[in-house]
Amino acid sequence: MLARKTALVTGSTSGIGLGIAKALARQGANIVLNGFGEVEAAKAEIAALGVKVAYHGADMSKPAEIEDLMAFAAREFGRVDVLVNNAGIQHVAKVENFPVERWDAIIAINLSSAFHTTRLALPAMREANWGRIINIASVHGLVASAEKSAYVAAKHGIVGLTKVTALETATTGVTCNAICPGWVLTPLVQKQVDARAAALGVSNEEATRLLLGEKEPSMQFTTPDELGELAVFLCGPASANVRGVAWNMDGGWAAQ
Ligand code: NAD
Repeated sequence: MLARKTALVTGSTSGIGLGIAKALARQGANIVLNGFGEVEAAKAEIAALGVKVAYHGADMSKPAEIEDLMAFAAREFGRVDVLVNNAGIQHVAKVENFPVERWDAIIAINLSSAFHTTRLALPAMREANWGRIINIASVHGLVASAEKSAYVAAKHGIVGLTKVTALETATTGVTCNAICPGWVLTPLVQKQVDARAAALGVSNEEATRLLLGEKEPSMQFTTPDELGELAVFLCGPASANVRGVAWNMDGGWAAQ
C-alpha cells in the first residue's frame, strides 16, 4: 500500500516509533529513522523488511537539527509522504518541584518538534496533494495524571496542533490525526515501573500490576505492533476523510 512512499518516524530507534516504522515498512514504505541508542539494530530490523532505510540523528529539541533532518529526508528519498511525530520523553515530579530544564526539554521534544517537522513537511505534501501526518500524543493528551505537568501540557498541545493542521489541510489529500496510547511497555514506561517498585519495595510484577490497575481497565499493555497497525489504517484509503481525530488505544483508560 505504501510502495514508493517515504515515512519519517521521529524517535524510532526504540519502542512505539520502531513498531510504527516496522508496520509502515511492511506496507512497502522506505523509512527515515531518527533517535538515539540502538541505531544499527533498528536499521537492520527495517532493512530486513526489504525497504530502503536511512538514519538521521537530529536532536528533536533543536530546531536547526530538525531542519537538517527534513532536508536530509528530501535529499535521500525526494519527499516525506508520511510523517510520524513520535519522539518523546517523560519526567515525573510535582509542579513546584518540576526541574525547569526538564519542562523546557519535554515541551521542545514532545510538542515543538512536531510543529517544526509539520511546517517543513507540508509544502511538499500539498504539492503532491497527498500526505499523512500522525502525531503520537497519549491518553495524557485527553486526560491528566498528577506529577506529569509538562508531559500532559505537551500532549494536550499536540492534540491541539493536530486539529489545527487537519483544518488547514481539510480540502486536500493531506490528513493529520493523533494516536493516544495508554500504557505501552517501552523503556519510557519501564522506568516508571522500576521507580514504583523501588518506592514501594515490591517486585517488578507487582509494580506492573499496580501501574495498570490504577488507570487501565483492560489490565493489559497496548503494544507497538498494535499502534503500528492503527498508523497503517490512518495511511490507507479508508481513512481519507479521518481528519483531526485523537484516537485512543488505551484499554478503556479515558472511558472512565
Ligand atoms: P521510548 O523511550 O522507547 O522511545 C523514545 C524514542 O524517542 C527513542 O527512539 C529515543 O531515542 C527518542 N528520543 C528521545 N529524545 C529524543 C530527542 N531529543 N531527539 C530525538 N529522539 C529522541 O518511548 P516510547 O514509549 O516508545 O514513546 C514514544 C512516544 O509515545 C512518546 O511521544 C511518548 O510520549 C508516547 N507515548 C508512550 C506511551 C507509553 O506507555 N510508552 C503512552 C502514550 C504515549
